Amino acid sequence: MPQATGGDTARPELRYDGRRPSGMREPDPGPLGLQGKRMSLFSPIAALSLATIIFAIDTLTPFDIAIAVLYVAVVLLALNFADRRRILLIGAGCMALTLLSFILSHGARFDSGPVARCLVSLSAIGITTLLAAKVKAGIAVLGESERRYRHIFLATGVAILEMDFSEVGTAIAALKTAGRGIDAVRAEDPGFARRMLGKMRLINANDTTLTMFGAGSVADFRAALPQLAPKEMEGALWSMLSALWDGSTAYEAESLMGTLDGRRLNVLFTVAVPSERPELGQVLVTIMDVTARREAEDALHHAQAELAHVTRVATLGELTASIAHEVNQPLAAIVTNGEAGLRWLNRPEPELQEGRTSLQSMVDDAKRASAVIKRLRALSSKSTPQQAAFALDELITETVTLVRRELDGHRAHLSLKLDEDLPPAFGDRVQIQQVLINLIVNACQAMGTVEGRPRDLGISCSVADGALEMTVADSGPGFDPDTASSLFNAFYTTKANGMGMGLSICRSILEAHGGRIRASAAHNAGATFTVSLPAHKEAL
Ligand code: ADP
Repeated sequence: MPQATGGDTARPELRYDGRRPSGMREPDPGPLGLQGKRMSLFSPIAALSLATIIFAIDTLTPFDIAIAVLYVAVVLLALNFADRRRILLIGAGCMALTLLSFILSHGARFDSGPVARCLVSLSAIGITTLLAAKVKAGIAVLGESERRYRHIFLATGVAILEMDFSEVGTAIAALKTAGRGIDAVRAEDPGFARRMLGKMRLINANDTTLTMFGAGSVADFRAALPQLAPKEMEGALWSMLSALWDGSTAYEAESLMGTLDGRRLNVLFTVAVPSERPELGQVLVTIMDVTARREAEDALHHAQAELAHVTRVATLGELTASIAHEVNQPLAAIVTNGEAGLRWLNRPEPELQEGRTSLQSMVDDAKRASAVIKRLRALSSKSTPQQAAFALDELITETVTLVRRELDGHRAHLSLKLDEDLPPAFGDRVQIQQVLINLIVNACQAMGTVEGRPRDLGISCSVADGALEMTVADSGPGFDPDTASSLFNAFYTTKANGMGMGLSICRSILEAHGGRIRASAAHNAGATFTVSLPAHKEAL
């Protein structure tokens, strides 16, 4: 599976072990021409020839002008081939030649004119040399920084795309001027996002991009780019356009993308718009292949769902007495009503109306038994999670009937505080029921040791800040507040036969629902578990 690997090698193909296409391009030399060592011989020869000519003219001709000033051209030519130290040496050499010419042509005569010309030339050469050396040092730093960024650009495990979105920017600006909103455009012109994708022009892409998408060259990738966005990517495209519409300078999303060789990748992509170029002329897009991570997460979710199922079935085993009672009660009522019905009908003068009532009661009881069995089947079945709206208070009343025997067996006194006007909850009803059963069974077990004071179990539900809250509070021994964070860890248990999975599964279930669970307790004053669940959006 393609993934970024560690190591400090500079070769991009080792940084990303996806399939590497053939014909990978060589890194271009930088715009400043600082990468290659292909140094032209022209500049040194030209500099040497120029210095010789200036020296000859300066020494042999009697002109009253500062010919030696022309040595600055030699120093400037040296910028092309010499490093900072050599530039200083060349400058010093030019100054020495200036002095030599002066001595050769004027001997020990120090007339003010020639001396002044010589001093002007020396100052000009000196200043130019110092400036050239400074510029050279600056170029060296710039070159080093360019090399570093080029290395990062090419060798990083992240695909980096330099793109031009200016046509998209123009289209958005035109729609805005026409007074349209992105939502209206989306409703009326569903093909807009895809057309905009075609207008996003790729300027350059690093090698990782080519490797990740199985492209042989930037040109191949550029040509294929619009086709690499499958239908599933359209949602992300619309949100990106909406972010650009709002003038955001950064956007991030996860999506599916295709590759040139027919693979499908889960990618995390970011779009960065430089704040100094809001017209979208130079947009940086990075793409990270998170396929392996997604697959691992899916496998983990699958394993968690399996585990949740196993513990659910185990809990059902613990609740056998309650369940048997729940099913037995309507069955016993059916028998009683059946016998009563028979008696009414067996009379010398059959009481048809009473017989009918008995039969109706039998049907009602049978329906009740069948409903209980259906609920149990849902709890023990391995069906995939179903997301739907459901009433939390009804779920609580129904669950309490399932665990009634457990409560009675532990002599727990139950008090319910339910709000019937709650907005519906949203999620998998069976999983939330599993959470509640877990909390009730834990509370009963915790209160099993309580003697000499009431064993109270309070269950309540309410709404706070748009979220539903359900609390299960017991009057058991509670727990040491220091251990509160450990309670939800897998395999944490203080029970001789405990598995330590119940609360950990409760937490995963709630997190998957966008909710959470927390526990609080005062030593010897009971424990309270609070569950928050998002309410069904449409109901709010
Ligand atoms: P298990 O019930 O198998 O131990 P759980 O994950 O359900 O696994 O619970 C973990 C631990 O949390 C329990 O062993 C117990 O120490 C503590 N705990 C859970 N519920 C309560 C409660 N109501 N009161 C006190 N401690 C509790």
